[in-house]
Amino acid sequence: MDSSVPVAIVMIGPPGSGKGTQSSKLSAFLGIPKISTGDILRQVASGSSRNSEEIRAIMETGGLVPDSILADLVTSRLSEPDCKKGFILDGYPRNIDQAIFLESLLQVKNYKLLVVEIAVPEDVLLKRVTGRFSCRVCGAIYNKYFLRPRNEKICDQCGSADFAYRSDDNELVVRERLREYTLQTLPVLDYYKAKHLLVSVDGNRSLDEVYDELTCHLSKVL
Ligand code: ADP
Repeated sequence: MDSSVPVAIVMIGPPGSGKGTQSSKLSAFLGIPKISTGDILRQVASGSSRNSEEIRAIMETGGLVPDSILADLVTSRLSEPDCKKGFILDGYPRNIDQAIFLESLLQVKNYKLLVVEIAVPEDVLLKRVTGRFSCRVCGAIYNKYFLRPRNEKICDQCGSADFAYRSDDNELVVRERLREYTLQTLPVLDYYKAKHLLVSVDGNRSLDEVYDELTCHLSKVL
């Protein structure tokens, strides 16, 4: 891997595709930060800044937060020193205008751009997302269909009994998030494909299998 060139890895996948988990593993492996716009927005939404209320309301219905808000948040996060060697973007860009904006940011900073799609069929996604819950204490992620804690009420990792569901993980909101993905984000994949920047990975397999394929692809191009 050529570490002299800073790299921008964009992870694209529908809700429940596992892009967050794969981004975290990749971030630890490559030693570059994972930047999740969903996490940043949830943090802003839970505070009391000028935009908090608006962001909270949009996220709760599964819509997309306005591009101008994302542009400010992403610009400021990417200018932090830990991004100098590169970064992994999880959840951005989600539409063509965001992709064009990101390109202008990266041009200035001279990053090598690589885009990864994690593809998963819709019926699998619904179960993955509506069944998902996490430990409030250590963040361990479970699923009521696929991955329950060994003892129903106790976290395997830290022993806590405090679990949380994301408020936007109910079926109605997930369907809306999937609709937004189809309408707004699928065109972004075509956009990157035409530029020969896209690598597509089959996400309907175990986390380890997906991760192995991902790193195998990346080692060829980085
Ligand atoms: P998921 O990928 O599972 O939908 P995320 O945590 O990435 O979950 O995003 C949660 C929500 O945050 C989205 O439904 C959307 O409302 C908002 N969001 C995240 N990233 C963006 C973005 N790039 N543009 C607009 N809204 C965003």
